[in-house]
Amino acid sequence: MRQSQLFTKTRREAPADEVAKNAQLLVRAGYIHKEMAGVYSYLPLGLRTLNRIIQIIREEMDAIGGQELVMSALQDKELWSRTDRWDDAKVDNWFKTSFKSGGETGLGITHEEPLTRIMTDHVSSYRDLPVYAYQFQNKFRNELRAKSGIMRGKEFLMKDLYSFSKDDAQHDAFYAKAREAYLRVFARAGVGDKTYVTFASGGIFSEFSEEFQTISDAGEDTIYVDEEKRLAVNAEVYSGETLSKLGLDKEKLVEKKAIEAGNTFNLGTRFSEPLGLTYTDETGAKKPVIMGCYGIGPTRLMGIIVETLADEKGLVWPMEVAPFKYHLVSLGHEGDEISKLADALYDDLKKKGVDVLYDDRNARAGEKFADSDLLGMPYRIVVGKDSVATGSFEVVNRATGVVEKKSRAEILAM
Ligand code: ATP
Ligand code: MG
Repeated sequence: MRQSQLFTKTRREAPADEVAKNAQLLVRAGYIHKEMAGVYSYLPLGLRTLNRIIQIIREEMDAIGGQELVMSALQDKELWSRTDRWDDAKVDNWFKTSFKSGGETGLGITHEEPLTRIMTDHVSSYRDLPVYAYQFQNKFRNELRAKSGIMRGKEFLMKDLYSFSKDDAQHDAFYAKAREAYLRVFARAGVGDKTYVTFASGGIFSEFSEEFQTISDAGEDTIYVDEEKRLAVNAEVYSGETLSKLGLDKEKLVEKKAIEAGNTFNLGTRFSEPLGLTYTDETGAKKPVIMGCYGIGPTRLMGIIVETLADEKGLVWPMEVAPFKYHLVSLGHEGDEISKLADALYDDLKKKGVDVLYDDRNARAGEKFADSDLLGMPYRIVVGKDSVATGSFEVVNRATGVVEKKSRAEILAM
């Protein structure tokens, strides 16, 4: 894409009302637009980034047998009343509204209820199980705190997967697989080394849930990390008893601030019982389905990546997440030798199918470099006077700052 065609502009100053580093940088770089506190729009560069994150998650969910669907945002009050999650006294973050034809509705905060009901139409025998279904969908939560930029939105994207199993053994086998898939997601997203499986409160059906917590000073959670075992315990369940159950040694734990990137939960029969999701087992007996839920916030993960990897000059995207792999920066002006050379390299890269953002604007070098640092593509390829004379280009690694000279052929082989 030619940067001269990109409608978004960068800005030098962070918006005054934005305290979170992730939102400050993403707004400055023109990736997102703040609509209201906790509500953001995703502009072309932001959407490309988000779509890459979504794609990583989709691949990993498909690899463990997930089937993608998408449910409605508008929720059925009657359904949620049956599980006792409609009442504001029970769930305090609903956005509710009403139909002109009468009756109330709410914007989905999560989707256990509707998916469980859908499954009652499709699951009747043990042969129909297990089933794993997931979606990417905007959730709506009337969050009180909105100081974390895109890490805590009132409207935000969630990947929510739900598992439906015939018994605990089938559930546990998938739960373990989901943990591995989650760890692959965070590794591919560039935050694997800072993300820990963290034991948190579990609810009625299991002692613990598992959170995937990324170490960050911007985090709202406190966790205790065992670096060697790569495990952590959330402060909410931190006690001598918990540690001995988990085989963790208090002496080895380090207190850290962290942000929850994802979590997985054993739901047992919490939703299948009240909503009548049952199956007939091998002996002909009717049993409730065992459920689990597995969430990741792709928009929150985008914020976490910014918080974790950005530096004082701007965004730093890992390869798999970057909206473009290369930022081709021409120091020429329209029609001169430099810009002809840059045009040719741009065409070559495009022909190869490489994602490249091409700064073809007639702007000063200093301004282009500052913008390039702010936008954060993994590699910057500079086409300058030298390139015309020698046929080589400066290739700058955004994360490490390492500069290499490469020929056209070497760049095309990268
Ligand atoms: P938190 O503890 O941070 O409030 P949660 O436990 O309520 O989150 P879940 O309901 O399990 O979160 O949602 C699954 C995932 O969705 C979370 O792990 C997180 O990545 C993401 N998420 C939750 N709330 C938000 C939000 N307000 N903005 C952005 N992402 C969110
Ligand atoms: Mg949580």
